[in-house]
Amino acid sequence: MTITKEVITKIHKIIGDKSVLVSKADLSAFSYDATSNWQGMPEIVLFPTDERQISSILALANENSIPVTVRGAGTNLSGGSIPVLGGIVLCTTRMNRIINIDAVNFTATVEAGVVLNDFNKELAKQNLFFPPDPQSFLAATIGGCVAENSGGPYGLKYGVFKHYLLGMTAVLASGEIVTLGGRTIKNVTGYDLPLLICGSEGTLAVVTQATLRLLPMPESRQTVLAVFNDLITANASVSRILSKGIRPAKTELIDNWIIRRIEESAPLGLPVEAEAILLFELDGAAETVRMETEKVVQLCYETGAADVRQARDKQEADNFWTARRMGFSAIYGNAPTAMAEDVTVPMDKLPELMERVKRIGQKNDIMIVTMGHAGDGNLHPCILTDKKNPEHYARAQKTAQEIFDAALELNGVISGEHGIGLEKRKYLKRAMSPEAIELLKKIKTVFDPKGILNPGKIWE
Ligand SMILES: Cc1cc2nc3c(=O)[nH]c(=O)nc-3n(C[C@H](O)[C@H](O)[C@H](O)COP(=O)(O)OP(=O)(O)OC[C@H]3O[C@@H](n4cnc5c(N)ncnc54)[C@H](O)[C@@H]3O)c2cc1C
Repeated sequence: MTITKEVITKIHKIIGDKSVLVSKADLSAFSYDATSNWQGMPEIVLFPTDERQISSILALANENSIPVTVRGAGTNLSGGSIPVLGGIVLCTTRMNRIINIDAVNFTATVEAGVVLNDFNKELAKQNLFFPPDPQSFLAATIGGCVAENSGGPYGLKYGVFKHYLLGMTAVLASGEIVTLGGRTIKNVTGYDLPLLICGSEGTLAVVTQATLRLLPMPESRQTVLAVFNDLITANASVSRILSKGIRPAKTELIDNWIIRRIEESAPLGLPVEAEAILLFELDGAAETVRMETEKVVQLCYETGAADVRQARDKQEADNFWTARRMGFSAIYGNAPTAMAEDVTVPMDKLPELMERVKRIGQKNDIMIVTMGHAGDGNLHPCILTDKKNPEHYARAQKTAQEIFDAALELNGVISGEHGIGLEKRKYLKRAMSPEAIELLKKIKTVFDPKGILNPGKIWE
């Protein structure tokens, strides 16, 4: 225990009794995230409602060297929100106000606990669009997405969270409240501090508000499903289509094993015989979408698709995208332990990465199933294992390491969107130079000299 009774009394005074959880049953609900192989018990869970409370809690934690792990919805896939050293879990879900939507300047300011889907529903009422779409958007919070620099299928055409982050309010480990960035599209006033905090996985500051850039809602959308007889051809098809100058809003890949598990749990119309499918969405002006759809259908056939279908209507399109969104639950629900990796390579290296992943799985006698945001080179090879079987789990970890090495050899990265967290911290040295890691640690010390914010993450 790092928290004394005296500190607990002070916490109650700051935040009120109704915003504090301490029972074992409650604490265990905050001891894990969306990964299936990490756990750590907090000593206390707090639900602040404003940044002044966060400021007082951090000042108190800093004074007493108590670890603080911020948590949004806990949907991350890297062990990021797990309090491995105990201490406080600071959960932002009660800070869920949309403060302002500025439809003239295409910006919005929201609190960290706003759920991405709720935000998008409000924007849709004003014909506005916020593209970054981690497939956990029904639960994921804006704060968690900023901290992970999340992206999703729209990453291909529209980029990821950092491309929409204009400014933020954050609380430093000392308790100091800082306002960073601004509201304008362009801003070169000093170092880009919001960008530094974006993707820092809760280790530099607690984000309390974010000001985000918006886009007008596209006039028209069309979904296309292409069926392939093998996974490598599907991957090769992606870069050949994109090299023709077409930019679908989304280009997603799902393999046969995952298609079958999705259809077993919710029949949504995916072709279960397909070895792999590519799901595209084209968006923009209606006439452009019509022309690009025709082109994508033609190019899919030219690059080896066995069948290509255009979604008949919005309902069918929604079914396909719901199926895609179910990918991770289909995987996690069908293996005692799943390691969902998110290596990313330059798009033209996808087929080679896929070949290597296949060979690595065969060599280690480990099942690897794959889906991912193929259009931006971000694949999710998911290693199916069982942590309770040490021999199998050791082979699974070796498999993960070999996949990371393959991605790095192909000029890729070990994480495109899930972050390093606990899951990949022991591989960081393979992906970054000692000098670069040293720089990360020095930056951490400037923001958080005592190391109370999300300790134990990113590096070993
Ligand atoms: C089914 C499923 C699909 C997914 N699909 C995608 C996908 O397509 N793309 C993608 O990028 N990710 C995806 N993810 C991963 C995950 O959903 C995202 O990383 C998401 O952004 C996490 O949001 P959260 O609110 O759950 O954050 P949490 O999991 O609670 O926290 C994530 C990290 O952010 C930190 N953090 C949280 N809030 C704050 C804050 N206010 N200030 C500072 N730090 C904070 C935490 O300490 C932790 O390190 C998926 C996950 C699942 C379960």
